[in-house]
Amino acid sequence: MILVMDKSATEADVKKVVLLIEELGFQPHISKGSERTIIGVIGDERQIKREQLSLLPHVENVIPILKPYKLASRDFKQSNTIVDVAGIKIGGPSVVIIAGPCSVESEDQILQTAEAVKKSGAKLLRGGAYKPRTSPYTFQGMGEDGLKLLAKTREKTGLGIVTEVMDVSDVDLMADYADMIQVGARNMQNTKLLKRLAQVKKPVLLKRNFSANLGEFLMSAEYLLSGGNDQVVLCERGIRTFVEYTRNTLDLNIIPAVKQLSHLPIIVDPSHGTGRYDFVIPMSRAAIASGADGLLIEVHPDPAKAFSDGEQSLTPGLFKQLMDELKTITNAMGRSL
Ligand code: PEP
Ligand code: MN
Repeated sequence: MILVMDKSATEADVKKVVLLIEELGFQPHISKGSERTIIGVIGDERQIKREQLSLLPHVENVIPILKPYKLASRDFKQSNTIVDVAGIKIGGPSVVIIAGPCSVESEDQILQTAEAVKKSGAKLLRGGAYKPRTSPYTFQGMGEDGLKLLAKTREKTGLGIVTEVMDVSDVDLMADYADMIQVGARNMQNTKLLKRLAQVKKPVLLKRNFSANLGEFLMSAEYLLSGGNDQVVLCERGIRTFVEYTRNTLDLNIIPAVKQLSHLPIIVDPSHGTGRYDFVIPMSRAAIASGADGLLIEVHPDPAKAFSDGEQSLTPGLFKQLMDELKTITNAMGRSL
């Protein structure tokens, strides 16, 4: 449930309520608005009587949150969450473009891509060092060497880096290198990994599993928020449907749905969402027009030679074209690039 403190409540009043919530065996989560403080009370609500909270001094209202996700819901926090990734703000007025190769392949490849995407206006660099591949016979990523190349590229270009973690045992290593840690679609419901990432002071990019519904997606975010990490960006990357002409079906309906139900930012990955480089530009336009807070785009200097996902990677030239086209659309949406 949510406790709404009245306007005159001081820090000390809030503290008293927080202590009592803890004494009752619940977890308090504070959200400070411009006028009022809201306290989320997380735990088994059957164990608490409404009066135990509603009669406390300066508690104006006690509202049950009926949705299974609580901290991720708009009921708990009305204002949009803004996630700060190495100084780049996701979820605010600017649309943030994250671009780079599917996999880090070599020093030259990652640096060349980073310089090209930066020049065209990308604000963060993506690149996988640990790759979840369908086949064990394909490139599995460079591992820590890939992370080192990403860090070196960050030093040279100033671009913050976004990279995927696949295993709990790699989380500390990842936190040393990455500015934002990506949870891939396959790990969206790896609750052990989510619980561990909740304890790390790094923003998380949470990709939707290809068969997850909206509620399941937000419940995965809830694992991060309830564990103490509120720096979460959601990412729609396509779901499995009966269509066979694209790799996945990009579910842009989820953008307005997430905006209604949650305060968390959401970005779109049209590269995995379509699997086709020639569909990436049109679907990027659509994503921004539907209200997405950013894009995750695969770019490779020579897609035909890419170690992974070449078919869906833009060349630096096409990426520039995309960025030029997006200016008009972001303006029309009252946002900037
Ligand atoms: C990726 O971003 O390279 C990736 C593997 O994405 P997903 O987890 O969405 O398949
Ligand atoms: Mn990929």
